[in-house]
Amino acid sequence: MTSKDDLYVILEVDRTASVNDIKRAFRKLARRYHPDINPGDRYAEDRFKRITEAYEILSDPMKREFYDVNGFYTDGVLEPNRQETSWRFSFQGFNFSRSTDVDFSEIFSQARRPERRDPQRGQDLEHPISISFEESIRGRTARVSVARMDACGTCNGTGQAPGSRESVCPECLGIGKTTRTKGHLQFAVTCGDCGGTGRSVTPCRDCGGEGRRSRTELLDVNLPPGVASGSRVRVPGKGNAGRYGGPAGDLYVVVTVAEHPFFKRIGDNIQCTIPLTVTEAALGTKIEVPTIDGPAMVRIPPGTQTGQILRMRGQGTPSLLNPGMRGDQYVQVKVMVPRVADERSKQILRELAKLNPQDPRSNLW
Ligand SMILES: [Zn+2]
Ligand SMILES: [Zn+2]
Repeated sequence: MTSKDDLYVILEVDRTASVNDIKRAFRKLARRYHPDINPGDRYAEDRFKRITEAYEILSDPMKREFYDVNGFYTDGVLEPNRQETSWRFSFQGFNFSRSTDVDFSEIFSQARRPERRDPQRGQDLEHPISISFEESIRGRTARVSVARMDACGTCNGTGQAPGSRESVCPECLGIGKTTRTKGHLQFAVTCGDCGGTGRSVTPCRDCGGEGRRSRTELLDVNLPPGVASGSRVRVPGKGNAGRYGGPAGDLYVVVTVAEHPFFKRIGDNIQCTIPLTVTEAALGTKIEVPTIDGPAMVRIPPGTQTGQILRMRGQGTPSLLNPGMRGDQYVQVKVMVPRVADERSKQILRELAKLNPQDPRSNLW
């Protein structure tokens, strides 16, 4: 065995080095020779492989003891059961206890293409608002206070401290994954230090690396004329800020319109009920009817029946779907029957019945 094959020489440690010395030495060398730092460098790749193999043996007290006595170590020379004793220590999840099975070319290719965080669009947000019936007809500008995630101004949304440089994650050495051991099984898990990116950045102090900060913003939202209960008025880009370069979401202002005591809205139409006297309904007349534009004259034709519906064209609400158009107002007539108590009125009604004999139930049989 030449000295360049000596595991202690490869790891640049004393033969008396403690477990911690070996761990420190490995981390230092692995960072220097990791293929992610030396892309395409065959020599570095070879060194990294040898460093890793040396570490795998010297960090394991059983294997190290065998190596110290025999001057070599290969897998299988120790009894399988002894290999899995609990005093095998794990180097922060970077466990090479099965490293002879590790396909380094696979690790290298992963290291060259670390998992990148894909741009994520920010979440859409909803904000409720209640307005009066009149406001829904005219439209209005509403000032809303919205708590949203905004891009951090300190780091411009990168999450990285200004002026700091990106480096290889020291925990996973750029691979983006670490190995976790459970019993005899090993799992590759996403590196918790770098979130699988394989990159290490100095997090921005103001946003903790999130790239976004919660802030409450006052926004003037334009509610168009004709906005209705359940309308979702979109404010582009005022949802949460995106992540990793993704666009911001949108804000939706969700409208609730208070009920009106007289007008009822159905789509773009307005419905209302108007009482008429028997005389008005029988003889016909002109009456004033409230509309959203103020009182308007409506002609009641002679012989109007209770429940009959009259249409006032173009007196409905402004249409959101067809700007410039308006719905209609539908006026339902309710004929009020007089409560007569005096003899004279009763007599007139009896005379009226005599003059106009009719059976309103004649068509029931
Ligand atoms: Zn920041
Ligand atoms: Zn990592």
